[in-house]
Amino acid sequence: CNPAVPSPHGSGGVLPEDPAGSAAGSTAGCGRAKGLSFLARRKEEDCSCAKSSSGISPTLSLKACTLAGMASKTTSTIMPKRIAHVPSLQSTSLQRPVIPTEFGAKVPTNIRQRYLNLFIDECLKFCSSSQEAFDKALSEEKVAYERSTSRNIYLNVAVNTLKKLRSLVPNSPTKTSNKKVVSHEAVLGGKLAAKTSFTLNRSGSLRAEDLTGAALYRRLKEYLMSEEQLKENGYPMPHPEKPGRAVLFTAEEKKTTDSSCRICCRCGTEYMVSASGTCIRKEECVHHWGRLRKQRVPGGWETHYSCCSGAVGSPGCQVAKQHVHDGRKESLDGFVKTFEKLPTTDGYPGIYALDCEMCYTKQGLELTRVTVINSDLKVVYDTFVKPDTKVVDYNTRFSGVTEEDLENTSITLRDVQAVLLNMFSADTILIGHSLESDLFALKLIHGTVVDTAIVFPHRLGLPYKRALRTLMADYLKRIIQDNVEGHDSSEDARACMELMVWKIKEDAKVKR
Ligand SMILES: [Zn+2]
Ligand SMILES: [Zn+2]
Repeated sequence: CNPAVPSPHGSGGVLPEDPAGSAAGSTAGCGRAKGLSFLARRKEEDCSCAKSSSGISPTLSLKACTLAGMASKTTSTIMPKRIAHVPSLQSTSLQRPVIPTEFGAKVPTNIRQRYLNLFIDECLKFCSSSQEAFDKALSEEKVAYERSTSRNIYLNVAVNTLKKLRSLVPNSPTKTSNKKVVSHEAVLGGKLAAKTSFTLNRSGSLRAEDLTGAALYRRLKEYLMSEEQLKENGYPMPHPEKPGRAVLFTAEEKKTTDSSCRICCRCGTEYMVSASGTCIRKEECVHHWGRLRKQRVPGGWETHYSCCSGAVGSPGCQVAKQHVHDGRKESLDGFVKTFEKLPTTDGYPGIYALDCEMCYTKQGLELTRVTVINSDLKVVYDTFVKPDTKVVDYNTRFSGVTEEDLENTSITLRDVQAVLLNMFSADTILIGHSLESDLFALKLIHGTVVDTAIVFPHRLGLPYKRALRTLMADYLKRIIQDNVEGHDSSEDARACMELMVWKIKEDAKVKR
């Protein structure tokens, strides 16, 4: 837990006696300031290279895509069966071991502590004494830590260790049908998870099934962004006089007074374009598509690109046909704003999570796909979108959208806007991760927003933001690992919805 960046709603589920099961404890890795093209980068502000147009890394995205089954698991956490898995020796007076804080460690201490506690919980089930369980857990954690060269590797090793320990428990829940329920809740909630949800279960006031519809809407309202936050986070705001035009309160001073001169948001090269946006000179764009990552090496730290492990400033590892730019901040026309509507019959104005994909066109970044999911994690709208101008780079690595996908689509941005204006009202809660980026792609002005990048802040504060997949790895790790259901383009939207449901429950525990 990092007191320097308090979550606006208590310390985000950090239980005082549980340094491990912490929620908003800041565990983000290194951070780099957002560069000029931060809007161009999709969801990965964490550690990003200012010039890369990054997205979900193929590996993680594969894991993150497995959120489909989460709702059912979450709702099943109140199954009374779970009570049986409260470690029998947990009430022991023996002090649990604590991982000493190590500055600049390859794995944040609170993550290690979380897993140590989980290991202890398991060991207590089959060891003959608390001390034996502590020793066993400590040695397992030490092995995991020593085997891991990075935080992500540690997370994988630790989860596997946990699985191994679970399999050692007599009548292990891993061998029964409610395996996922237990592991899921245990990882999310830390060592007190079982107890805490038992309390919740009895109180009946915050059962999982209550967190839908109007009840979820009421709770989510506590996490809405203020107008001030919308402005300082670069959300498109309505122009006071001109309908259809957005204003941006964070507009960086663009040095490009010459409209024919652009700066490539991938490689940083200045290049010339014609009036229609076509590159004047045929010039390849040599860039790194990955993000900058800090790595510990003997004697200090080194920063490398995640794509090719190249050092900062090394020649790019990827060659694209031409330079590209973001451009969304320069085209603030064509925006629509959600309407005020009369209350609906079901008593609340709706909750949706959104995710957009974009590609580079002559104009800049344009929408190529939009996915909307509802609070039951069901896809309610998903369509490819034909950009207005000629595509120069499909950005497939990050968007997953290919030339073939767009070949047969005639849906335009205006069509999408019409659908969304019908689906949403001004009071509809839209959830997303750095949702301003999606709203810019949609050219949609909307003020009722829950942004998971704000709800789960980076420990260094703005402009640092944590990547969605980092949040997923930290909070919903177990779910990601347990589900293998293939690729699903709505994974990001689902992840945001799921993180918020988790966050609400976690905060409710603390208040209790
Ligand atoms: Zn590279
Ligand atoms: Zn370039």
